[in-house]
Amino acid sequence: MDIRKLVKKQVSAITAYDAKRVPCRIRLDANESPYGFTDVGESIAGIRTNRYPDPEAGTLRRLIAKDLGVNPGNILFGNGSDELIYFLVTTFGGPVSFPVPTFSMYGIISHSLGEKTIEVSLDEDFDLELDGFLKTIKREKPKLIFLSSPNNPTGNCFSTDRILKIIEASKGIVIVDEAYQPFSSEKGMLPLLKDCGNLVILRTLSKIGLAALRLGFMLADHEIIREVNKVRLPFNVNSFSQAIAAAALKKKKEFRTSIKTIVAEREKLLKEMAKTEGVIPFPSEANFILLRMEDPDYVYTSLLKRGILVRNLRNVVPGCLRMTIGTPQENAAFLKALNEITRG
Ligand code: PMP
Repeated sequence: MDIRKLVKKQVSAITAYDAKRVPCRIRLDANESPYGFTDVGESIAGIRTNRYPDPEAGTLRRLIAKDLGVNPGNILFGNGSDELIYFLVTTFGGPVSFPVPTFSMYGIISHSLGEKTIEVSLDEDFDLELDGFLKTIKREKPKLIFLSSPNNPTGNCFSTDRILKIIEASKGIVIVDEAYQPFSSEKGMLPLLKDCGNLVILRTLSKIGLAALRLGFMLADHEIIREVNKVRLPFNVNSFSQAIAAAALKKKKEFRTSIKTIVAEREKLLKEMAKTEGVIPFPSEANFILLRMEDPDYVYTSLLKRGILVRNLRNVVPGCLRMTIGTPQENAAFLKALNEITRG
């Protein structure tokens, strides 16, 4: 039997998200934090493995609501924020619009659900092309607009006034994906949530040391939460993730220290890489840096030969690699290798 003939057309046309585990010594490819939590095991001790998890993630919900100053009813959890993107597209459908280059899952999920996508290129500073979006809104009336700010893979935040103009003009929902917000010097959209009924903010614990848990959440008006909750699978966040996240989130000092170290390392790397021959690093408000060079394939394979894995994005942003900020030792090893490679 030819299985491919059975698959929906929209699914067979998709290229799967590339999340292979390439063996390496230093992993700087997936925007994870180099700092994890090893002392949260106790939090899972009382979990009864025969029972389904708390479908509302009550403890975690109250904790995050208090931390962010939002109502617990304005939060919806996902098995990673990826899952919430899936739920949003399932709930509202398309057209779905987003800038390019950006996080590839907006397109992959929309296509897998058979929804039309409309891409609007970023301007030369990697900021939003406001006119392009306003025209798209008028012409195509997108139900959903995804804006990753800070943007993956470019690293910059979009201008708040452009985001606001898009929210104002849109008759659909605007999702500001703030996966990298903890590393940014900007405030983000949370202070504006109450005033914008069509705004959804996406957050994740994956970039701040808890990627193993697969835990993301969205913040929105309760009417949006109520609708999206209808398509959420009943027990989508498991008990272990809920318990470990709740225990880890209480360690505020550890989070603060690791984020501070990552941001300081990012600034140091940016300065050093600006001196590296043939490499242009782009400023970043996230936990990664986009680098442009003449031959990214050569640099990528040469780094990998030295055991250092980064992300080759030459098909997404011409001439570019993306490196995640690691520990100071990992970053020093990366920089040394990069300098050796580019010097030839
Ligand atoms: N949004 C953006 C912009 C991302 O870069 C990522 C991770 N690469 C995600 C969402 C998904 O994060 P997770 O599913 O781990 O919460």
